[in-house]
Formats: sequence, C-alpha cells, structure tokens
Amino acid sequence: MIADLDTMTWDAVVIGGGPAGAMAACMLARAGHTTLVLERTPTPRAKVCGSCLHGRGVDVLDRNGLGDLVANAPLLHTAELRAGRRRARVRLPVAGRIVARDEFDAQLLERARAAGATVRRGVRGTPLCVDGDRARLRIATGDDVRDIFARVIIDARGLGAEGDVHVAPRGRIGVGALTAPMPRAREPGVVTMACGRHGYVGVVMLPDDRLDIAGALDVQRVRALRGDLAAVVASIFDDAEVAAPIEPARLSWSATPTLTRHPASAASARDRLLRIGDAAGYVEPFTGEGMAWALQSGEAVAASAAAFIADTKPEFAAAMWNAKHRALFARRHRSCAAVAHLLRHPRTTRLAVSALARWPSLARWPLGAGARDDAADVGAAR
Ligand SMILES: Cc1cc2nc3c(=O)[nH]c(=O)nc-3n(C[C@H](O)[C@H](O)[C@H](O)COP(=O)(O)OP(=O)(O)OC[C@H]3O[C@@H](n4cnc5c(N)ncnc54)[C@H](O)[C@@H]3O)c2cc1C
Repeated sequence: MIADLDTMTWDAVVIGGGPAGAMAACMLARAGHTTLVLERTPTPRAKVCGSCLHGRGVDVLDRNGLGDLVANAPLLHTAELRAGRRRARVRLPVAGRIVARDEFDAQLLERARAAGATVRRGVRGTPLCVDGDRARLRIATGDDVRDIFARVIIDARGLGAEGDVHVAPRGRIGVGALTAPMPRAREPGVVTMACGRHGYVGVVMLPDDRLDIAGALDVQRVRALRGDLAAVVASIFDDAEVAAPIEPARLSWSATPTLTRHPASAASARDRLLRIGDAAGYVEPFTGEGMAWALQSGEAVAASAAAFIADTKPEFAAAMWNAKHRALFARRHRSCAAVAHLLRHPRTTRLAVSALARWPSLARWPLGAGARDDAADVGAAR
C-alpha cells in the first residue's frame, strides 16, 4: 500500500488529513504540485470538536469552490451562555455552520484527491532530516516502513505534532462525546455553552440529530477525580444550572492533550517544514474558531510551500510563512487567550455573562466578528 510512494521526490508531503491538511493539499494539487497526504486513521472518525464552523471558515470554502460541502449544513446563529443563574442569548455576529467532523473531514479529503493529490489513509508520517534540497520522511503502515522525500513538508498533525512546542502550564484538556440521534433534544442552530468552576462544555445538535458535547476541562480536576471525565462534565452542567441532555456517564468520552500550545515558530527552514492548523499553535476552543484557522492556514500556506518547491532560499520561504501566519492569527490567538483567562475565574465568568445579557454588542469582540462586520444582530435574554 505504500510501496509505490518512494519512487519519486514529491513536491509536497502533507502529514495529517484534517481540515488544515486537506485544504493545503487541495491548493497545492490545484497549483500543479505533486502532493501526497498521509492520514494515520484508516477510516474517517469523529474528532473531539464542538462542530461549529465559524463564518470565516465558510468564507474560505466558498472562495475556493468548496462551499457546497457545507451549503446544506444547519446555520449556526445563536450562542446561549450559562454560568450559575446568569444567562445570555447572543445572536452570533457572523453566522457559521454546524458540521459533523467525521463527514466533513472525509469529504474535504476527497476534494483534495479529486484535485489531484495522492491520499493515503492508515499511514503515519514522521519528518526525519534534510538531505540537500529535499526533506526525508519516514512513513509506516503496519509492519511496512519506508523513507520518502519531499521538497517541502506541511505539518498538519494537529495537537499531536511533535518538536519544540511550548505547552501552557495550566492549560486545559479537550473532551468530547457524541450521542445517538436525539431529535428535538436541542434547538437547531443554537450552541449552549455551560461554564463551570472546572471548565466549560458546549452542546450542539448535528445535522443528523446526534448531539455533540465537547468542552475544555481543568487537568487538576480530572486528576482529582481519577480521570473520570464524565464526572467533571456533569459537575460543569450542575455549576451552570444546565440540564444535561443525557447522563454524561452513559457516553463514551475521548480526550485531547493539553490544548493551549505554540511551537517555537510556524516554519522551519532547517527542516524544510511549514506548520498549519493546530500544529502551528492553538488556544482553547471557547470561541469556536479552530477549524476556520485550520482552513485559512491551509489556504494561505500554498505560496510559501511553492517558494520551497521552486528552490527559493529556504530561509526566505520560512520567513514568508512565519510572517504570514503571524499576520493572520496572532491577534485572534491573543483575543482567545484573553477569553480563556477570563473563564478561569467563576466570578469574572458570571460577570461577563451578565454583561453580555445587558450589552449584547460586546459579543462582537470575543466571537470574532472581525472580517465580516456587517451582520451584527445581537439580542439577549435576562
Ligand atoms: C473540545 C474542543 C472543542 C472544539 N470546538 C470547536 C468548534 O466548535 N469549532 C471549531 O472551529 N473548532 C473547534 N475546535 C478546534 C478544532 O477541532 C481544531 O482546531 C481543528 O480540528 C484543527 O484542524 P487541524 O487540521 O489542524 O487538526 P486535526 O483536525 O486534529 O487533524 C490532524 C490530523 O492529523 C492526523 N495525524 C496526526 N499525526 C499524524 C501522523 N504522524 N501521520 C499521519 N496523520 C497524522 C490526525 O489523525 C488528524 O486527522 C475544538 C477543539 C476542542 C478540543
């Protein structure tokens, strides 16, 4: 299954077939570069994610002829924030879409294949070293292990990416679970965010009526409860006075590594490697922008990758991506970090929810109106 992959030097090898990797592969293949995508999971799977695709992510898909992938997905128009007795119902400044990750990721990867990329599932990739003007990677599936070469490596391995990564010392971990279909268990198009002392949990109804429950939990609390994720989630619903749609202990929970992390830089000239999506840095998911960042970076990285492929000086190509990545994401990452900090303290969380109920236009900053400022329409309850 991988015997045919070491017969040539690829222009680009993308490690990771999530939204960032699939988007980058689409762009590179369309530009005529020989592109290989390696995805370690043999079949499509759900990921730990709140499933809310921000409007900016929808824009990326639209302008690249991929908008049909989400055109029939339910609109995400309202966030209901709950903390103790406080609640605010906020009309989102920019409407997004609700997508089921197992389906969305698989369909986007199919588009990369249709654009001309070679896609291999069930294959793990690891960057090794640089030989002259090519990067060497090790690829493995089962017992079959080989080395292949590429002019540039796109690291889209998500939170699992290795290397020189700074992980926030008090960072939270992500957790998620899907229910069986529960029609009418939640209002369509509304994400409910329950904020508690030990983290926050969001609930949203997917296009096929399953509920996606995902959140960020304090690691110390998880340890104190001996890894009982369902118990921590249940305590957050209690704190927020939100009725859990289903007893959390009845669900099967998955967890991520610590969420807030940043590599030393988004690009490495020495390794002929460009990082995108979560692999290039991630902040807690309260504002629901991770997929949009992944798609934006997958779209934008193609120019810097082309510079590596065209044999421009590696230092120049890497500097290009570092600057571009900073320009695209540094401000949003800072805003999200500020929101995450505020949510660390139950009192400031409750005050923030009260403030949003009273002055709903405040939602434009944390919810990232940014690029499309025209759609402000914010209302509140209580
Ligand atoms: C609790 C939680 C809730 C969230 N809610 C939202 C939300 O509502 N909206 C939103 O936009 N974002 C949300 N996010 C963030 C979002 O899930 C991520 O930002 C997004 O998935 C990043 O995409 P990516 O392609 O960079 O990484 P991923 O989606 O993680 O994809 C990485 C891929 O690389 C593959 N891979 C890893 N290592 C290797 C390897 N060595 N070889 C081959 N393949 C490999 C993995 O299998 C995976 O498929 C949430 C995150 C969490 C934790």
